[in-house]
Amino acid sequence: MSKILIIEDEKNLARFVELELQHENYETAVELNGRKGLERALNEDFDAILLDLMLPDLNGLEIARRVRQVKKTPIIIMTARDSVIDRVSGLDHGADDYIVKPFAIEELLARLRAVLRRVKMEEDNNTGALSKQKIVKYDDLTIETANRIVHRGDEAIDLTKREYNLLMTLIENKGNVVTRDQLLNQIWGPNSKIETNVVEVYVRYLRNKIDQPGRPSYIKTVRGTGYMMREEQSEAK
Ligand code: CA
Repeated sequence: MSKILIIEDEKNLARFVELELQHENYETAVELNGRKGLERALNEDFDAILLDLMLPDLNGLEIARRVRQVKKTPIIIMTARDSVIDRVSGLDHGADDYIVKPFAIEELLARLRAVLRRVKMEEDNNTGALSKQKIVKYDDLTIETANRIVHRGDEAIDLTKREYNLLMTLIENKGNVVTRDQLLNQIWGPNSKIETNVVEVYVRYLRNKIDQPGRPSYIKTVRGTGYMMREEQSEAK
């Protein structure tokens, strides 16, 4: 039975979600306070966390960030704020998905099933063929897949999980254009309602980290379609 932590200070909403989850045979825990919620998230093992953003004592973004530093527990943000910046910021703090209040409970349940399925799939097959290789080389980038460390030449580049997955997806498909929709499916999961402009934001983050000033980006934008890795420039095959 999956165990879900609900961190939400609106008592009625928290109770409502809790009852609905229990009805679907989830085990639940509720915290109404940000700091207590964080403690609970860190000290117990949950299969997923439903997280409000505006909370007493400690806000949801900070909770997401701190949980993500030490745990992979999937996080779905429940937010009343609906702007691309808020969404990107939530996702960038480590959340896996978000849902905008007021929401239909069916939608929340569907999102929850999706993140739980995704985690299970990741555990089952640990992504594509490249991750079975220990070292992946692309041009002057060297990627150690076991610990997700990326080097450009001698320089270590620190990528978030999503940036890493984005890079690996593009490299796996080198020579081909990967559409924004394909990237969304691959990295955020097939049922995510995230908009494709979030992909653009992440491509920008990734370019900022891996590209060298004065050299063309590793990632080519194919206008109106998507992205692809540019041809390898170095002769060191
Ligand atoms: Ca709140």
